[in-house]
Amino acid sequence: MKVWNPFHGCKKFSAGCLHCYMYRIDEAVGRDSTQVVKTGDFALPLKKNRQGAYKLSSSDSPVYTCLSSDFFVEEADAWRGELWEMMKIRSDLSFVIITKRIHRAFSALPPDWGEGYPNVAITVTCENQQAADERLPLLLQLPCVHKEITHEPMLGPIVIEPYLREGKIECVSCGGESGPDARLCDYDWILSTREQCMRAGVAFVFRQTGANFKKGGRCYQIPRSEQHRQAQKAGIDFTPPIFPDPEEQLRRLSRSAFRSRFRLGEKERQYIAVKGLPAIRQHASDFLSARLAPAEPLHDGSQTPMKGHPVFIAQHACACCCRGCLQKWYGIPKGRALSPGELAYLTDLLMCWISGQIKP
Ligand SMILES: [Zn+2]
Repeated sequence: MKVWNPFHGCKKFSAGCLHCYMYRIDEAVGRDSTQVVKTGDFALPLKKNRQGAYKLSSSDSPVYTCLSSDFFVEEADAWRGELWEMMKIRSDLSFVIITKRIHRAFSALPPDWGEGYPNVAITVTCENQQAADERLPLLLQLPCVHKEITHEPMLGPIVIEPYLREGKIECVSCGGESGPDARLCDYDWILSTREQCMRAGVAFVFRQTGANFKKGGRCYQIPRSEQHRQAQKAGIDFTPPIFPDPEEQLRRLSRSAFRSRFRLGEKERQYIAVKGLPAIRQHASDFLSARLAPAEPLHDGSQTPMKGHPVFIAQHACACCCRGCLQKWYGIPKGRALSPGELAYLTDLLMCWISGQIKP
């Protein structure tokens, strides 16, 4: 992990900022943290060494951006265009922008942002329920390819499951507060967030305990050097299950008498020959998105006809016909939206089955 601090300084914004580590470090050297100033590293992504190679190589990803300020702070409005430009030039690096000021992002995106630069992730920090309820609806609305949530410092139990259910959040991380006046972080809050992530199929990371940590009814003072290690020792990070590759999954399905009954007829083969496979793939993706992906699909259980389109038949053959079958065959729980990764996987699977059917 690399850090890029193009500017330094910030104004305290919400409860999470109370014991900001940047203020603490600045105070020790008599520096005014409220002054936002460019640093010598402003153009770090474009800096080169004597051999003419970039100082940050592509293996330095992800680059954490603005850890001693907030990327969307007002005082940096005039500089942000250059930062976007550098991220675009260094498309070989991935950047993580961590912010509390997501409300300012909408008017601070570059003109060619579109649905988002593919190498930029935006992580919204929310330290408590109020911050989550103010900021996460905005994060969901913002066009951005990679969206993440962090609760650092986590100051109470936080319910984010309704936001996770939309399938747009890739990862959630949690941690306690550091420093001599650190507020308490309760392990039960961390575990609750983890369970919410597991139910929603979203990755979860427990980053560090903080200095003042409660577990099993007891409070512990954890030294800075131990906070990260103790969190890792808990061993509770979660990565959503990886599905078997489509070929393997089709072999599993073929062992079901019901699933293996479905075949493409002459009419469907004709249709595919006329339309072409790329168009059929688009149909498969559209059908899954519209009829299966929502948290509560309309007429679930009877939304996929038995005939009328090759994709419908593929859905029955592949157990992608309703949320009940997705739960049974893929372990994707009902009641939440499919993630982009799940949609892509199921689309591939349907196309794999269809390709097998039209082979001469
Ligand atoms: Zn079904």
